[in-house]
Amino acid sequence: MMIHTYENTLAFAQNLDNQDTLRNFRNYFFIPQHQNQDVVYLCGNSLGLQPKNTLKAIETELLKWEKFGVEGHFEGKQAWWQFRKPIKPLVASLLGADSSEVTIMNNLTTNLHLMLVSFYRPTGKRTKVIMEAGAFPSDQYALETHLISRGINPSDNIIEITPKSGEYTLNTEDILQTIQNVGDELALVMLGGVNYYTGQAFEMDKITHKSHEVGAMVGFDLAHAIGNLPLSLSLWDVDFAVWCSYKYLNSSPGGVSGVFINKKHHQSNLPRFGGWWGHLEEERFLMQKGFKPIPEADGWQLSNEPILPMAVHQVSLEIFKEAGFDNLVSKSKILTGYLHYLLTNYTKDYIEVITPANPLHRGCQLSLFAKKDGKKLHQYLTQQGIITDWREPNVIRMAPVPLYNTFEDVYVAANSVINFYKS
Ligand SMILES: *Cc1c(COP(=O)(O)O)cnc(C)c1O
Repeated sequence: MMIHTYENTLAFAQNLDNQDTLRNFRNYFFIPQHQNQDVVYLCGNSLGLQPKNTLKAIETELLKWEKFGVEGHFEGKQAWWQFRKPIKPLVASLLGADSSEVTIMNNLTTNLHLMLVSFYRPTGKRTKVIMEAGAFPSDQYALETHLISRGINPSDNIIEITPKSGEYTLNTEDILQTIQNVGDELALVMLGGVNYYTGQAFEMDKITHKSHEVGAMVGFDLAHAIGNLPLSLSLWDVDFAVWCSYKYLNSSPGGVSGVFINKKHHQSNLPRFGGWWGHLEEERFLMQKGFKPIPEADGWQLSNEPILPMAVHQVSLEIFKEAGFDNLVSKSKILTGYLHYLLTNYTKDYIEVITPANPLHRGCQLSLFAKKDGKKLHQYLTQQGIITDWREPNVIRMAPVPLYNTFEDVYVAANSVINFYKS
């Protein structure tokens, strides 16, 4: 699909939908209803929609449990004790990682703490952590309490990078300069891949390179990046990453999380919190004393696998595979580009799009700063069956997702904003 100019007409939007080779993937999902019609769902950045095959996948595992009881751990084509194995490459391909660098476990904030145990290694004067100001609160709380648990004062050791005055987003140059300035006092750089509030995608390659240059570790929280942006974690040489699966990965509310741990750390003696599921598989059931980790990301696992959420996760990941992530990214650029065009050309007296205009510096989400009546606008959209979310103090987030959103969705949402301010 090649687009030279966009137009604000329903016919134009529908024509793009007709040309969209991915349009059938929408039928793989349940679309919530409003007055017996599909809503315009623009909240996939918060909770992805349910694939229609989800219930069947849960049922398969429940039937296994019903039929085999404990033997389900070793029965059937995806025995529970190794349930993650076919899921790992599906996730790894979205991350630009090797399967050995990925494991599926726990929840996001838990995994962030576990990664800090291994990758926040304060020594001598090298104790500081760089974060983005306005990071997702759970990440702020995790860092703050983690440092306290290690006897380190967070207010002296967490450095937040803030936008220049009058700006909403960060300059890569400013991030790199801060890393340079903290230099040999810097232990860790820990940023989001995409900031949840502004929708800004950080230049992870450059940030990683600079952090390593000054001798610091670097990790990313990819909650808003996985399944949204093209990622090359191995190539960029990122040390670790964490994410959740219920946003763009459509893997159910509170669904299972995952971690990426760079190959170069697999055989290192970084400290970690261990558990039996991280122990060498061939010796795990000997139940002997003395922890010997699997020499891969799996060596950071603690517990046996939560089969139902993992089965749900797999359903969605297989849809990503079938659609092809590169195809999704190409559509996403045009889809979000269309929303950006409509908002910046037709609502600029009332709305400022604070997400970067450069498609390389954003994913599918746009954050709309309402200059007036923001909360009323959000209510109006909801009444029209347009599902967006409101973030205090004045931002509406809209995330057209290439797997299930249409150009018509984008047209309808933007024109509702236009109509609201007209009336
Ligand atoms: C969604 C999100 C979380 C949520 O954490 P959970 O542990 O899954 O509840 C944390 N951090 C970021 C950056 C997020 O976007």
